[in-house]
Amino acid sequence: MDNLKELYQQMILDHNQNPQNFREMENATSKAEGHNPLCGDEITLFLHVENEIITDVSFQGSGCAISKASASIMTTLLIGKSVKMAESLFNKFHTMITTGEISEDMGKLAVLAGVYKFPSRVKCAVLSWHTMNNALHGETSLTTTE
Ligand code: ZN
Repeated sequence: MDNLKELYQQMILDHNQNPQNFREMENATSKAEGHNPLCGDEITLFLHVENEIITDVSFQGSGCAISKASASIMTTLLIGKSVKMAESLFNKFHTMITTGEISEDMGKLAVLAGVYKFPSRVKCAVLSWHTMNNALHGETSLTTTE
């Protein structure tokens, strides 16, 4: 439990109390909703993509510290990235969150690496990424981690 507590503290400090890009986006080019029934996390993800570049990302919703921090960190990393880069980060994040393996360019995402030790929390951490990926590919249907 000590490790989980540490994990929470670090992320609460960084992003949970002060989530980045936590807002609605009126000129979004795509939007998707995600739900993690296991924990009750809900997210609406907004994307603005122009010429294959993500010019803006934002989210709204409610959820636990991990889902919120993960979404917040994700938005700060994706703004200005190409769609291809976002897909590559999604894959790397997915590997990290399920195996604990950190690739060099994970940056701030590395703070979430410890989540892999807590399988029930993995879904909280990946929710925003799955939702973003669906928004990226224009799938407007509800994303669920189940
Ligand atoms: Zn959660």
